[in-house]
Amino acid sequence: MLVGLAIAGWVVCVEYEAFELLVEYLEEAEEYELDEVLLMFMLLGLAGFVFAIRRWRELQKEMIARRKAERSVVWAAQHDTLTQLPNRHFLNKFADSTSAHDGKAQKPLTVLAVDLDGFKKVNDLVGHEGGDMLLKEIARRLDDVTPEQIVFRLGGDEFLVVCEGVNSESAEELANDIVMRISEPCPVFGIQVEVGACVGIAVVPGHADNLKSGIRCADAALYHAKRRGRGTIAVFSEEMGAILAERARLENMLQHAVKHNLIEMHFQPLVDLKTQKTVGFESLARWILADGSTISPDVFIPVAEESGLIIELSDQLFRKACEAAATWPSDIMLSFNISPSQLTDRRLGLRLIKILQETGLPPSRLELEITESGIIADLETATGTLTDLSNAGIKISIDDFGTGYSSLAHLSRIDFDKIKIDQSFVGSFATDPRQRKIVTAVIAMSRGLGIATTAEGIEEMSQLEEFRAIGCDGGQGFLFGRAMPAKEVHGFLGGKTAAENIATEA
Ligand code: C2E
Ligand code: CA
Ligand code: CA
Repeated sequence: MLVGLAIAGWVVCVEYEAFELLVEYLEEAEEYELDEVLLMFMLLGLAGFVFAIRRWRELQKEMIARRKAERSVVWAAQHDTLTQLPNRHFLNKFADSTSAHDGKAQKPLTVLAVDLDGFKKVNDLVGHEGGDMLLKEIARRLDDVTPEQIVFRLGGDEFLVVCEGVNSESAEELANDIVMRISEPCPVFGIQVEVGACVGIAVVPGHADNLKSGIRCADAALYHAKRRGRGTIAVFSEEMGAILAERARLENMLQHAVKHNLIEMHFQPLVDLKTQKTVGFESLARWILADGSTISPDVFIPVAEESGLIIELSDQLFRKACEAAATWPSDIMLSFNISPSQLTDRRLGLRLIKILQETGLPPSRLELEITESGIIADLETATGTLTDLSNAGIKISIDDFGTGYSSLAHLSRIDFDKIKIDQSFVGSFATDPRQRKIVTAVIAMSRGLGIATTAEGIEEMSQLEEFRAIGCDGGQGFLFGRAMPAKEVHGFLGGKTAAENIATEA
């Protein structure tokens, strides 16, 4: 508008010869020095013009910088800062836009869900910085697999590869290639570190109608691959979908049960084989549904572990077990099972001790049962946690001994008080001479180390006698009694010995 007005003014001035008139007037009124004033205004105008151009250019620059910043904020929100790969947010948008083609012919896609094996160990070995370096290298290797693909990093050690036009067979080849590339050693701070990977595969269309459900299918396949072990590849099948849906249903139910404190503790007697007296009880979780049916702890404990509910559930169960045990005679021990995943929790000891204090059960009356897999998963943390517990006066026993990766190295690192010989050995003891030799040797070795032994799953009198004869200290099994509700424990104890109880049961 200003420029328009200036031009219009200029035209009028030209039309009326305004400049000539002005010059004439200035000459006539020479004594007022108006020409100098006019010159000053002209120079000021020129300066203003230059200033305006410079300001305009600055604004231009600011606008460009702002647009750039806006673009980089969007970029950062959709990418993983460490590996520069697109993240879950990007994947959701991408899946939405690809899935919008529903019904129309769309390009076939293959989804490969990738999860690293043993990444946590590497992190422990080379620290987080080293772990980050490894992740960057793995991102680079994945990005190189095929040209027609997008690689996403979905979280810690989870990646997703989406590629165009690959069928199930070539997808398996691709997955093998991914596992091989990831498994190549990688130097980090001068140490050759190695991780593995599991891959879940789904193809769209085929396993799913669109990319969004394709991702869920690949996840289900990955879940199965991981359960089968390291370096495994699994292609999605309907069955997997059903299993996963069932698991999700169970997880929901479990969440409800934990929230409303519905899971109970039952107690199975632990007996001294020499005196046949009940010396303690192992607490076993019992989930009884409203219709009277039950879900086995073998089923729901793993779900609680995988869904992160185990800490809350275990605290609830431990409190119930301690409340019951605090009412028992002071020489009766409580055995409580600790899940493998709990041993990596550095606050486990603190929480257990707090509950012991609140319920009034002395630590010396508590024995924790842990399995070898819990120790192996993270030896350092597990050793620390167990040493703290041991120092607090709590006893530690190895559960299901003989079924895991038993190693003398582990036995020597942790101060165990007891070994519970797995029931599979008890069952085959009479018929399998090799098993018999192993059990006899384990009992002799434990004796030498001053570690007590308990045989699990004693169902028959002959087993009781055999184990007593080879020097096993304790026993547990249906012969002595099944797990019972807390209210039945006092009646069960009722001054009777286990032998009398066996006689009564018979
Ligand atoms: P576990 O610690 O090895 O517990 C012993 C299992 O053997 C119990 O099964 C018990 O009922 C069963 N059993 C005892 N005596 C006999 C016998 O003479 N014959 C036979 N055939 N079986 C016998 P349950 O109660 O089904 O528990 C299964 C597993 O679930 C337990 O194995 C334990 O690993 C886990 N679990 C149970 N309660 C808890 C808990 O509160 N916390 C955690 N973390 N795990 C638990
Ligand atoms: Ca146990
Ligand atoms: Ca056991």
